[in-house]
Amino acid sequence: MKTSQFILALDQGTTSSRAIIFDHNGTIKQVSQKEFKQIYPKPGWVEHDANEIWESQLQVLKDCVKEAGISDDAINAIGITNQRETTIIWNRETGKPIHNAIVWQDRRTAGYCDTLKAAGKAEMIQNKTGLVVDAYFSGTKIKWILDNVDGARALADNGKLAFGTVDSWLLWNLTGGKVHVTDVTNASRTMIYNIRELKWDNELLELLDIPASILPEVRSSSEVYGNVTTDVLGGDIPISGIAGDQQSALFGQMCTRVGMAKSTYGTGCFLMMNTGEYVVKSTNNLLSTIAWQVNGVTQYALEGSVFVGGAVIQWLRDGIGILDDASDSEAIAMEVEDNGGVYFVPALTGLGAPHWDAYARGTIIGITRGTNRAHLTRAAIESICYQVNDVVRAMEADTGRSLAELRVDGGAVANNLLLQFQADILRTGVARPTILETTALGAAYLAGLATGYWSSMDEIASQWGLDKKFEPSMEEEKARAYTAEWDRAVGRSKMWIQEEKS
Ligand code: ADP
Repeated sequence: MKTSQFILALDQGTTSSRAIIFDHNGTIKQVSQKEFKQIYPKPGWVEHDANEIWESQLQVLKDCVKEAGISDDAINAIGITNQRETTIIWNRETGKPIHNAIVWQDRRTAGYCDTLKAAGKAEMIQNKTGLVVDAYFSGTKIKWILDNVDGARALADNGKLAFGTVDSWLLWNLTGGKVHVTDVTNASRTMIYNIRELKWDNELLELLDIPASILPEVRSSSEVYGNVTTDVLGGDIPISGIAGDQQSALFGQMCTRVGMAKSTYGTGCFLMMNTGEYVVKSTNNLLSTIAWQVNGVTQYALEGSVFVGGAVIQWLRDGIGILDDASDSEAIAMEVEDNGGVYFVPALTGLGAPHWDAYARGTIIGITRGTNRAHLTRAAIESICYQVNDVVRAMEADTGRSLAELRVDGGAVANNLLLQFQADILRTGVARPTILETTALGAAYLAGLATGYWSSMDEIASQWGLDKKFEPSMEEEKARAYTAEWDRAVGRSKMWIQEEKS
């Protein structure tokens, strides 16, 4: 290993492709980013042009190395992290996709998922995959493409088609079509992968009518999968780390021991807790998933997502115009001592984990003549914390352990008031690290571990640096009273649109 070298992480997200170069200390040397087109063919359908995903990713990869002013062979290895579940099927001979990528947000297979549930398949699917039956995951999207693209089934039967999540698609292209592989974390989001037996599940493949011939080989999250072609970068540069975005962030936050958890505060909030070498089956509406497989050891995680997190602040800005900028929210909320009895349940698109109520709608309750925009802003910030608290409580109930510390990242963690209130409500320390690009960092770490650029997980763990720790300072009784009020407000928001119809 040459310490003069760098690791390149490719972070292929839902709205943009990014490339980030990290040095041996895990600090960022260079970032490049390019947005790409979102395609909405019908209400509820979301697609990407798979070629544009690849081209934008290749472009930022090249830009990043160029702008960093380093030679190609100063890149020791490449790691990939990606938007999860998004489904691409391409022709193995031509390398051309046979349909646009169907994005994780796409709901076109919701009806088919209802049929699976009505047929009593949910329990079996949860036992094998750790997932709830939902259009979100890749399996039913694969079936949709095979059923709806002319000639697709015949091509698949002749072994001519390849399926991949975005990691596989990038790897295939980076290696000039030589490698058709995915990693366990991405496989665990397809709803056709058995997370206990660590293999594609024949019963599920049969149920969804998916031929095994189209599937990528499933490998660990940290190993050399292949080298990039010379069209991409000069030199024999290996691609040696892959993980889905949330798993990669968990690794970048170095939540490597049982019970450690992270929460990413972006548009939504994405929580993951490491459950060690065992699958914890949730009885509180969370997902069980593979955290990563490194050095032959598979670790699992519990996952819960909040649909509207930082987006509630965007709504204050764009929806009702009481903020000019998201970053003003903290100062405005500080104009008042507390929420003045106002609770805001931002169920703008229903409620995610652990409530899972598609019929819930946004509710602002407790408004009086004395309520002003500062109370409303404060209630919005607090709502993010209450929702995260609800997911953490579900994780604690499923695992029977209490959380020792929550590691946080994402755009909204710039807000100190938010993180202090989070600690107050959780009754647990909230730790904000110095490097907030944890998703890309996780992929870099996975890649660099495989090539010996970093020697061990212990060496990497020592790089995790604390920017600021928020400790609970509010009296416990007060926090409990607030949470009880929040629970009452959530109750009012639930099943709203169904009530309206009946
Ligand atoms: P994503 O990756 O989902 O696009 P980011 O991690 O970039 O999201 O975070 C952006 C989100 O964080 C936005 O929803 C924005 O409203 C919110 N946000 C940004 N700054 C603040 C702040 N200071 N306080 C509260 N929320 C904020």
